[in-house]
Parts: sequence; structure tokens; C-alpha cells
Amino acid sequence: MESVKCLIIGSGPAGFTAAIYAARASLSPVLYEGIEPGGQLTTTTEIENFPGYPEGITGTAMMEDLRRQAKRFGTDVRTGIVGNIDTTKRPFVVTVEDGKTIEAQTIIIATGATAKYLGLPSEQKFKGMGVSACATCDGFFYRKQDVAVVGGGDTACEEATYLASLCRQVYLIVRKPFLRASKAMQERVFNTPNIKVLFEHNTAEVLGDEDGVTGVRLRKNDGEEYEIAISGFFLAIGHHPNTELVAGKLALDENGYIVTVAGTSKTSCEGIFAAGDVCDPHYRQAIVAAGKGCIAALDAERYIQAHK
Ligand code: NDP
Repeated sequence: MESVKCLIIGSGPAGFTAAIYAARASLSPVLYEGIEPGGQLTTTTEIENFPGYPEGITGTAMMEDLRRQAKRFGTDVRTGIVGNIDTTKRPFVVTVEDGKTIEAQTIIIATGATAKYLGLPSEQKFKGMGVSACATCDGFFYRKQDVAVVGGGDTACEEATYLASLCRQVYLIVRKPFLRASKAMQERVFNTPNIKVLFEHNTAEVLGDEDGVTGVRLRKNDGEEYEIAISGFFLAIGHHPNTELVAGKLALDENGYIVTVAGTSKTSCEGIFAAGDVCDPHYRQAIVAAGKGCIAALDAERYIQAHK
């Protein structure tokens, strides 16, 4: 059976940063890319808030740079899906879906989270062309324009408030007759003059042309339909942490995110570390994930030193 010191699962900024650090610490990491190589960043267009890219960079190009940097120091980047981790054994026994088994002294879980979408074909069509699941990432592109945010939770209210500081008009599309967000967040929304809350509204279709989103057709709960003109359509209906692989093996919080010891990447299982959106329901930023990837590699290195 193949033996590795450090196995990294996930290929977003957390996974690749962990790989860069682990490789430079001579841990000869093996990284499995999973079903979405490059992670969520590859679904965005331009990234302007990652330090070091003064002119901005596309998500795909940034992930390619990170992959090349990880490989330059000897990371073995593999395509494949990890199907099981046996946490009862030391080293851990990892089974890849092609049937291969690997012994790993340490594992870094960096499988990320997936933004939820409504599931409309028109939404898929304009993804990255006006449809976004991250206002912090993409809001800047819609300065002084009209946009809509879908959702009634804290994220939706936070994103609507953020967008209101940049955009002319923000529509908050809420399917219920009330917001689920905390009272404080609701007040911020109601006190922001350029946010209009559309209660009991659903999205029937995202409208657009070859240049991107131009509007949205709304359907009220009583069945009435009408269109509004917008150029940005932001989903804020929750995220799904990709933790199926470790469910029942690592402690997860009530929303399914991996619980880590504060200030570290340590999970409830010694020798398994977590980094990035898979353990971060709050910040969900590439730069934060990269920083957490660095922490995970340093924690893995120290664990290996202590268990020689
Ligand atoms: P939530 O699950 O809290 O809210 C999701 C919202 O999206 C709900 O209003 C829900 O509607 C709506 N929704 C879900 N599916 C659809 C759909 N298909 N069509 C239309 N609307 C839909 O997710 P959040 O991301 O807002 O928050 C996740 C967690 O993170 C929460 O615990 C939240 O409190 C926390 N958080 C805290 C923040 C803070 O304290 N600063 C900031 C951001 C998040 P419905 O109400 O009808 O179910």
C-alpha cells in the first residue's frame, strides 16, 4: 500500500496553499483535486480582492497559478475522489474511488462548501455573467447599477446592505412574508433607503442577453408575475459544506461544518486537519481559506514531528 506523510483533499485556495507549505516542509504531499478542480473560485470571473494581483485575475487563472506553485515544490496533484477515510487506523487508511488505498500519517480536509442555487436553467446560463453567489467577491462590478439578492437570512441581509453601499437600488427577494435574519440585521436592511424588500416573491426566470443579466421575472405568491430590470443577481440562500466524507468521523457543527479548535486547524480526530470553507461558515473568502491552508500544513508538520 502506498504511504504518504500528508494527504490533502480539495483543490481550492486552502488545499493548494496547504500543499505549497507541506511540500516546502518536505512532507511530499499528495493532493486529490475532487469533482470541481480549483474549487468555487473557478465559478467566478474576475478576482480583484486577492492581495498581490493589482490588475485582478480570473478565478481559473489564479487556481492554475496555485496549482503550478504547489507542483513546483513537488506536490503530487491527482485527479480523483476520495471515497472513504478509516479514522480507526493509524496511519489513516484512505480509499480513493478508483479502488486505490493509501496510508496517510496526516490528512488535511479542504473540500470547501458549495453555494446553493435556485436550480433555474436561466440562472445556470448567466452564472459568472451577472449571476453570483458572493456579493463581497462580485459586488464591485455592479457599482451604481441595480441588483437583486435572493434570500431572507443573515447572509442575504448582510449582502444586500453591502451592495446598497455600492449600487443604486437593491431588491431583496424573499419567499416568505418575513425575514429569517437576526433582528439587528433586519433593522439594517429596513433602515437602508435603497434596499427594497420584496416579500412573498420568487424568481421565475433570470433574463439576459449575450452581455449578461438584464433583469428578472418575479412571481408573487399569489401567482402574479412581473419583471424588474437589474444587471446583477446574487444568491444568498445558504451554503452546503462538503463534509459527507467525514460525517460521523469528525465533529461537525449544527450546519454540517467541521469544528476546529479555535486558532488552529485541529479537528476532533488527532492527525486530521481542516482548512477553508469546509470549516468556515462566516468569512468564505479565498484569502482566508489560503491562510487557513497554511495553518493546516504547519499543524500537520508539527504533528508529524511529535509522532516520529
Ligand atoms: P440561512 O439558511 O439562514 O437562510 C437562507 C435563506 O434563504 C432563508 O431566508 C431561506 O428562506 C432562503 N431560501 C432557501 N432556499 C430558497 C429558495 N429555493 N428560494 C428562495 N429562498 C430560499 O442561510 P444564511 O447563509 O443566511 O446563514 C447561514 C448561517 O450563518 C445562519 O446561522 C446565519 O445566522 C449565519 N450567519 C451569520 C452572520 C452574522 O452573524 N454576521 C452573517 C451570515 C450568516 P426561508 O426563510 O423561507 O427558509
